[in-house]
Amino acid sequence: MVENTESESRKLLGRLRETMASDVAGQARLDKITQLIADSMGTEVCSIYLFRDEETLELCATEGLNRESVHQTRMRVGEGLVGRVARTGKVINTADAPNARGFRYMPETGEERYSSFLGIPVQRLGEMLGVLVVQSKDRRNYSADAVYALEVVAMVIAEMTELGAFVGEGSAMSPLHQQSLLLKGTTAQEGAAEGHIWLHEPRVVVTNPIADDPQRELQRLNEAVDELRVGVDRMLEDTNGGDKEQAQVLETYRMFANSKGWMRRMEEDIARGLSAEAAVEKEQSLARGRMAQVQDAYLRERLSDLDDLSNRLLRILTGQGRDTGAELPADPILVARNIGPAELLEYGRKLKGIILEEGSVGSHAAIVARALAIPLVVHVGRITTEGLNGDHVLVDGDQGVVHLRPDDPVVSAFRDKIAMQAQAQERYTSIREKPAITRDGQRVHLMMNAGLMADLPSLVNSGAEGVGLFRTELQFLVRNKMPRRSELVALYQRVLEAAGGKRVVFRTLDIGSDKVLPYMKPTDEPNPAMGWRAIRVGLDKPGVMRMQLQALIRAANGGPLTVMFPFVAQFEEYRQAREEVNKTIEREKRLGHVLPSRIEIGAMLETPSLGFAPLKFFEEVDFLSIGGNDLKQFFFAADRENERVRKRYDTLNVSFLSFIERIVERCDISGTPLSFCGEDAGRPIEAVCLAAMGIRYLSMRPASIGPVKSLLMRVDLGEMRKIIADARHRGEQSVRPAVMQYLREI
Ligand code: PEP
Ligand code: MG
Repeated sequence: MVENTESESRKLLGRLRETMASDVAGQARLDKITQLIADSMGTEVCSIYLFRDEETLELCATEGLNRESVHQTRMRVGEGLVGRVARTGKVINTADAPNARGFRYMPETGEERYSSFLGIPVQRLGEMLGVLVVQSKDRRNYSADAVYALEVVAMVIAEMTELGAFVGEGSAMSPLHQQSLLLKGTTAQEGAAEGHIWLHEPRVVVTNPIADDPQRELQRLNEAVDELRVGVDRMLEDTNGGDKEQAQVLETYRMFANSKGWMRRMEEDIARGLSAEAAVEKEQSLARGRMAQVQDAYLRERLSDLDDLSNRLLRILTGQGRDTGAELPADPILVARNIGPAELLEYGRKLKGIILEEGSVGSHAAIVARALAIPLVVHVGRITTEGLNGDHVLVDGDQGVVHLRPDDPVVSAFRDKIAMQAQAQERYTSIREKPAITRDGQRVHLMMNAGLMADLPSLVNSGAEGVGLFRTELQFLVRNKMPRRSELVALYQRVLEAAGGKRVVFRTLDIGSDKVLPYMKPTDEPNPAMGWRAIRVGLDKPGVMRMQLQALIRAANGGPLTVMFPFVAQFEEYRQAREEVNKTIEREKRLGHVLPSRIEIGAMLETPSLGFAPLKFFEEVDFLSIGGNDLKQFFFAADRENERVRKRYDTLNVSFLSFIERIVERCDISGTPLSFCGEDAGRPIEAVCLAAMGIRYLSMRPASIGPVKSLLMRVDLGEMRKIIADARHRGEQSVRPAVMQYLREI
């Protein structure tokens, strides 16, 4: 066979470029490419399979297989050798294809005659576009050099596909980035939004994947890398040893920028005929492919650093800066692979919606989006590769789906939905100042959950009676270094000022589990949700907790102060925490600071164990707040972050409601004030059932106060209690059907 030396592959790429420049278009272009490859590789067959839809590959061009099978032969991802290459993103190189694992013979193609098979993934920036295959009758193992050459060609085909080079006459391919698409994801913040895409990282378009002067390309690459290095060094100097974490990231950048392996591979690609930017993008694609496979969080971070560095290099090479000249649309929907909470806060309320390709429901970005009440859908595969700046998009945060470039009927149905939600919001405004009193005269107090400064205006807008849960860790999470005590004092003071005398319940740091501070050494725990978190950290390493308590006492400035400790699982933990507060008060007194007029010290009931604590505990604690999110996950042993099991157990499950009722009874006996502050407090049906169980304080997202109040004002809690008791008596698993029936009838 003709071995592909560097110059061979350069020749092939040169011919490919001629084909691109000639006026053959669409299908003819694809056909020509397969001919060229087969000819230059000295093989009988060369075929290109491209994705028809997410699941299906289609034979789009072939030299050597039956022509009639083009656009007829299809296979699912994972099916046969071609499907396996597409699924794994890995090369298959075998001399004896018919006996290779997973071989599936497609009779219409006539491929049974061919023994050897080499399949190369066609992918661009981690997105699988198709598979390039060469086959021959003789039994041969293609050399590493041939594999490498074909990888370069596959990269060029990927670029061409992205640029729409195969769309046109006779081609069954539809242009990319024009179809309307329904992309499924996971809800991280409910709500509906319509707008236009704003890419957090605008993609760089490589228009010249093939180059004819390797020397010049090498020079361009070297110059760009030099510029990159200088830039990184300057950034490192700028951080001036101040921000350790940022400096660490930059050090990693520097390591890559000086990495011999990274440079060598790109130089080799250029020698084979790629342009400098195509060589960078090829490396980036490989890194993204690896990123998808790597489990280890640390390694993934490093690969993502490399991805970022490649982006910088591409911007230098193409001159397409971060500032692409595009303007933030009036109704921006942010699209990103992932985003940190601080970056998200920079955009702030300008955003109408957020779509993340990765992300997770429990991520910090999700916490921020929730606080800002911006609809957020995460895990939306392909959004960063499919969506372009300015594309029309609908974010359905309720269903967890995204309509990209939607058709008219979808748009009008969606607008109806938004209008209905707006109408409902208006209705809620009219009851904003009214107390939540049920038909049978029961008063329920509605408070809001908060954690960011951005939440504070909601205190007035939502009609909340106070802040029932201030998650102090959010302020720690959105920074990249530990806040100083003086900063905390100023911050808590602003919160108390904004509250204007309304009660604010500050929860001390709840870190650990999914909330890992970026500047703290991560502890590798097999099960962090049940690990060293919240008050456990606070008691074992009291430094930060003491600083926080001091800051809170100073911020109260002689006024009342309410503090609660998260994740208390037994009496003794509460006693120790209370002791810490007392010691801090003593210290503050000695230092001459003014003390709060009154301090209430509460505990969060988030583990079933605390519900069964001695009655003495209920008597000693100033108040209790049920953290329903955690309590439910431990009650049912179902991880709140695991989409598979999270929704399996209903909050209205009889066992759970009975447990809540039991806690209410115990609090009644001891006279302990009780509230509920998990997400369920903000879901109207769940909220009225909790009220029926006897909960009189509910704390929720500000946006939920209207809907919850509206429903509370319509129900009779006495009747609901009876309905719940009857359903329980009948042995039903959940009271939901009975409650829904009642609500339909009122
Ligand atoms: C809860 O667990 O219900 C709660 C309010 O705390 P968080 O969601 O912050 O864990
Ligand atoms: Mg909790």
